[in-house]
Amino acid sequence: MISPGFIKRLKDRLDIVEVVSSYVNLQKVGNNYKGLCPFHTETSPSFYVTPHLNIYHCFGCGASGDAINFVAQMEGISYYEAVERLAQGMGLKVEYEQKDPFKDLYYQFYKLLAEEYKRNLNEKIVSYLNQRGLSKDEIEKFSFGYAPINLKVPEIVANKLKITDTEKFGFPKNRDPFSGRLIIPIYDDFGRVIAFGGRLLGDGMPKYINSPETAIFKKTSTLYLYHIAKEYIEQMDYALICEGYFDAIAFHRAGLKNTVATLGTALTKNHVYNIKKKTQNVLLSFDNDSAGVTATLKSIEVLISLGMNVAVVEISGAKDSAELIQKFGKSAVVESIKNAKQAEEFVVRELSENFDLKNPNGINSFLSEISKWEKIFQVQPKRLENMNQLITKITGVARRNSYTPKIETNQTFQAKKTVPPTLEEYLIYIFFTQKEKAKALGFEIDSVIDLVEDKTKEILLIGKTLNFSLSSSSKYIVEVVMNIVQKIDSFLPYLDEKTMEGIKRELEERKIEKRIKEIDSLIKNIRSDEERKILLKTRLELVKMKEDIKRK
Ligand SMILES: [Zn+2]
Repeated sequence: MISPGFIKRLKDRLDIVEVVSSYVNLQKVGNNYKGLCPFHTETSPSFYVTPHLNIYHCFGCGASGDAINFVAQMEGISYYEAVERLAQGMGLKVEYEQKDPFKDLYYQFYKLLAEEYKRNLNEKIVSYLNQRGLSKDEIEKFSFGYAPINLKVPEIVANKLKITDTEKFGFPKNRDPFSGRLIIPIYDDFGRVIAFGGRLLGDGMPKYINSPETAIFKKTSTLYLYHIAKEYIEQMDYALICEGYFDAIAFHRAGLKNTVATLGTALTKNHVYNIKKKTQNVLLSFDNDSAGVTATLKSIEVLISLGMNVAVVEISGAKDSAELIQKFGKSAVVESIKNAKQAEEFVVRELSENFDLKNPNGINSFLSEISKWEKIFQVQPKRLENMNQLITKITGVARRNSYTPKIETNQTFQAKKTVPPTLEEYLIYIFFTQKEKAKALGFEIDSVIDLVEDKTKEILLIGKTLNFSLSSSSKYIVEVVMNIVQKIDSFLPYLDEKTMEGIKRELEERKIEKRIKEIDSLIKNIRSDEERKILLKTRLELVKMKEDIKRK
C-alpha cells in the first residue's frame, strides 16, 4: 500500500489545471476552468476544474475526482498506478505504508484459518451445498469450509503464528466454537477475511453463529459480500440488501452482484453510510415471514431517515429469495424486482393488515399507528404525499401534508443563485473545501453537527467518515457539494470576515436555542419548585444572551 500521507503530499503539489490541460482544452471562467468533457460526448462545455478544491466535475455525466482519478480514468489504469506515474513525472519517490503489527497478524490468522477450514471440507458438506444449488466452482468462489469436531483448528493456526491471546482474535482458548459447522468466511470491504459464520448441518440450535466482535470485526458496519458488491452497486446504481449468507449468495449466482446481507443484526446507520458512498437507491429483500416484515420496516425507517430511496422486493411462493431462485430460476427474481413496492406502499399495506378498516374504530387505530410513519417520511415530502394518498384510498379519510419542506430538493443552481447561501450550505462548503480555514476558525464538526437540519447533518456525517475528501465521496455527495461550491464561489462577498462572523453568530444562536429547548423539556417533567426556579433563571439568561447576539 502507498502511504496515505504520500498521496496527500502528492495531491498538494499537483496542479490539477496543469494535469487536466495536457488532455483537455480549458478556459478560465471566474474561479474555475471549463472545457469539453473527455468522458462523454458534448458540444457545449459542462466539464469544470476547480483549482482551489483540486477537483474536476462534469455536470453532464457526473464524472468527478482529483488529478489522480483524472489520470487513472484517462489512461485506463488504477488509482495507485496513476499515483506512481504522476510521482515519477515530478521526480518524487513513492513512499509505502508502515504496517500495524496486530492488524497484519489478524489478517494472516484469518487467512490461514479460512484455508485450513476449507481444506477440511468433506463430502457431506459438499453434497449439502450441491443440494442448495451451488456448483463446484461456486463452492470454491465463496470459500466455504468445515470445522472438524475432533480438531481444534484455530488453536493449531494460532500456534503456528505464535499467537497466545486468541481472545483478541475472536476465539476462546483451547476450543473451536464453530466445531462441526459449515464455515462461511466474512470479509472486510477489501476482501480480507475478518470473521466467520458457522451453520449447523442437521437439527439443533442455534442454526447459525457468527464470530464475536473484535477490534477489527464490527457486525454493525460489516455487510456480507460488500467487497464484491461495492463495484456493482456503483455501476448498477442500487444496492440489494437481504439477510443471511445463502440469500446473498443466491442473488450473486443469479447475476445480481450488487447484493449484500446483514449479519444477523438489524440494518444500522453505519451499514447505510457504506452503501451511500456508492448509491442513493436500495432494494430490500428479507424473508417472507413476520420476522422478515419487522426487519423490513426497521430498515425502511433507517434508510428513509438517511435520505435513501427505498423499495421492497416481495417474494411469493417461497420462504426466501434463495428458495425462490432454486424453485423458479433467475427470471423469478428479476420479475419480483421489477414488481418491487415503494417503501411507503409497503408500510401502508403491512400496517393496514393489522386492522379492520371496515369499522371506524379500526380506522382510528390504524391512523394513530401510521402517524409515527408520517413523521419518518417527512424528510421525503414526495413519499409522504404518496403515502397520504394511499391512506385516503383505503380509509376514505382525507389526509393533508402538515409538513412544508425547508429545502426544495430539486431546485436548480440557476434559481438558487439570487438567494444568499444558507448556514447549512456555508458549513458544507467550509468543511469540504476549506479544511484549514475551518480549523483556524475553531469550527469543530462534532459541535456543529447537532445544530443543522437533518439532510445537512447526514452529508456532514458521511463527510466526517471520509475525512471530507471529495474524491472518495459518492456521486450524490459530490453533486451536492459542487452545486454549493458554484453558488458560494459566485456569490459576493465571498466568505469575507463579515460573512464568517455571521456564520459564527448564527451557530451561537442555534446552540442557545437548543439549550432553551432542552430546558423546556426538563421543566415539563420537574417536580421540585427549587429546581424549576433554577431552570427558569437559566432559561431567562439564555434568552437574554440570544438577544444580545442578535443585536450585535
Ligand atoms: Zn462528462
